[in-house]
Amino acid sequence: MPVARRNRRQTNEVPDIAFGSNQTFEQWQGIEYVVRSLSGSGSAKTYRCPGCDQEIKPATPHVVVWPDGDDDATHRRHWHRVCWDKRDNRRSTQHRGGMPRY
Ligand SMILES: [Zn+2]
Repeated sequence: MPVARRNRRQTNEVPDIAFGSNQTFEQWQGIEYVVRSLSGSGSAKTYRCPGCDQEIKPATPHVVVWPDGDDDATHRRHWHRVCWDKRDNRRSTQHRGGMPRY
């Protein structure tokens, strides 16, 4: 009997995920994010940090974050490590005492 249904996993594979080992998973707003630490030494690009709206210069250690399972590179965001760690503080000061907004 031939096995014809073996291709279920293919679309979930993320080929370039293997090169990064400093990778963790963190929950934010009910979504599981992949958080990868970058030394910055291999980068020649300047990124814009969504946390502080400041530039991340080349060779600056930072993190790149994207929703788990989303392999669209355009959804990746580069953050300063400290800005990513403080992301909830920014929200709670803006919405203190209120209901969470979605
Ligand atoms: Zn920042």
